[in-house]
Amino acid sequence: MTLSRSLKGSIALVTGAGSGMGAATARVFAAEGAHVAVTDYDLASAEAVAYEIAQEGLSCAAWGLDVSDPDRIRAVVGEIAAKFGGLDIVINNAGISAFCPIDSDAYDAVWAKSLAVLLTSHQQVIRAALPHLRKSAAPRIVNIASTEALGATSRDSPYAAAKAGVTGLTRALAVELGREGITVNCICPGPIATGMTAAIADDDKAVFAKRRTALGRYGQPEEVAHVTVSLCLPAASYITGATIPVDGGLMARNA
Ligand code: NAP
Repeated sequence: MTLSRSLKGSIALVTGAGSGMGAATARVFAAEGAHVAVTDYDLASAEAVAYEIAQEGLSCAAWGLDVSDPDRIRAVVGEIAAKFGGLDIVINNAGISAFCPIDSDAYDAVWAKSLAVLLTSHQQVIRAALPHLRKSAAPRIVNIASTEALGATSRDSPYAAAKAGVTGLTRALAVELGREGITVNCICPGPIATGMTAAIADDDKAVFAKRRTALGRYGQPEEVAHVTVSLCLPAASYITGATIPVDGGLMARNA
């Protein structure tokens, strides 16, 4: 066996890691031996996740990071690289939901915020991280999009447009950075039980999942986190530019 399946000693940055899929991703990376930078808009929630990980004797630290603030992105990426001695892995996960009808007075504001948090932030985190990724033996980028990038829901156009942008950014950067050995992939989660979907009643969740997914249920954050981790192994060296649904078969199902 020549390719490593170990993340031991890798340094990973996860955005929006104070809850949901980001928190699950931080936990799985740490459990696999990575040093994890747990970042979130809300410092207290990032610290709570980092505290829980550290209680297991694993390596991590927390930062407050609003991904719509490019100056803060550059500062935090620098601090992470200084603390851990580099940066190998970037997980662009932070997100907001952004339902808004096209004829709403709030549409332009929702559009601007969606694009800033869900799309522009990805390129800004990647650009800040690039000098460090270029020094890594196994540089990996995973962008979290959504099945809303592949299909769409009514009144969700700012979110769907931003997430479709993430898939395009992923492909273009995979091509641009491939010769440097930097892989760039994208995960499209389907319906996952996190804070983002917490307002949907359990009965409605169950009906939707039974009707629309192959597996007939919502996914758990950890089920996405493990796919993210798989894409970041040193051994995952020949997959790039991919858009991978982790959706319980939602996109595969017609009827
Ligand atoms: P979540 O539990 O709400 O987590 C999102 C995290 O992002 C929260 O901790 C949130 O922090 C943080 N965040 C929001 N705005 C931010 C900002 N400007 N800067 C930094 N962090 C920010 O939801 P989730 O489901 O785990 O979402 C993770 C990713 O999966 C998102 O990109 C989402 O679009 C995507 N996704 C989710 C689903 C789903 O069904 N859950 C499906 C497809 C895709 P605060 O709580 O402090 O605001």
